[in-house]
Amino acid sequence: MSLDLSKFAALQKSSKQSFFQQKKLVTQVLAGQKVLCQECQQPLKFSSSEQAEHSGIFCPKGCTDIQLDCS
Ligand SMILES: [Zn+2]
Repeated sequence: MSLDLSKFAALQKSSKQSFFQQKKLVTQVLAGQKVLCQECQQPLKFSSSEQAEHSGIFCPKGCTDIQLDCS
């Protein structure tokens, strides 16, 4: 699996603070650390594009949905 975080950066233009938060969160999840959704406190999961329509970081309830464009 290759994941280019610079492409992730291109998807997150709106808020600098949330970009850094999300990038940190993505990095932690990809490193195998347990990270909880801030909304529902459920563990976040990484899904690759083979497993889902988009690769990204998701929580079970869908309140966290960070899409990563790996194509
Ligand atoms: Zn959630």
